[in-house]
Amino acid sequence: MKDKKITIAIDGYSSCGKSTYAKAIAQRLNYIYIDSGAMYRAVTLACIRAGVANDSGVDEDRLPELLHSLKVGFVPNQSGTGWLTTLNNEVVENEIRTLEVSNLVSPVSAIAMVRSKMTQQQQEMGKQKGIVMDGRDIGTVVFPDAELKIFMTADPVIRAKRRLKEMESKGQNATLEEVLENIEQRDHIDRNREVAPLRQANDAIVLDNSNMTVEQQMEWFQKLYNHITKR
Ligand code: C5P
Repeated sequence: MKDKKITIAIDGYSSCGKSTYAKAIAQRLNYIYIDSGAMYRAVTLACIRAGVANDSGVDEDRLPELLHSLKVGFVPNQSGTGWLTTLNNEVVENEIRTLEVSNLVSPVSAIAMVRSKMTQQQQEMGKQKGIVMDGRDIGTVVFPDAELKIFMTADPVIRAKRRLKEMESKGQNATLEEVLENIEQRDHIDRNREVAPLRQANDAIVLDNSNMTVEQQMEWFQKLYNHITKR
């Protein structure tokens, strides 16, 4: 398999650092990186803006029309080193990372018609291989034939602390308790939903990064990649 482009699926719990990791891997291999969570977040933002989702739930009757008219995509960022998420061609990268969206994204993502639209688009994006995609169902549903699957996990409090730091660096305020509650609630909904629940694919390798630096995780990845591609 030397030099042949493969598909890399990274799944796992909320705020395990999947996106940072997937981005670093894509950069190293010169692959395309896709944050599937950003796509679900963009749909959720559209639902909030249209009044289709709020704290009391999701109005599933109005969802088909909304889904039909919305377009989720990515444009390169200014430095060309990553992507910015777009909703109907508007850059919404910051708007999709708020706690309001985080609190509603799991109920919205649990709905079958939302998943079917996103899954189709994700599969299209990965047709050429040479892709690293992170999410919850990438190794199980989106790319079940991915050559390399990683399932990430870490201690919830460590995850909440990391997420809080990231939010604070973007000027977003929240308490550790709020972030921890959101993470645990999302994990619960993601694991227990009927369609494409979060679970480890049978052929995924677990990475618990609670006490690992990014460099250590990259070293771990390189060994795995070399083994799989028989380098
Ligand atoms: O990855 P991130 O934490 O940004 O994802 C936000 C939410 O989107 C998850 O908690 C989950 O509910 C949903 N999601 C999903 N399937 C994916 C990626 C994300 O259901 N493949």
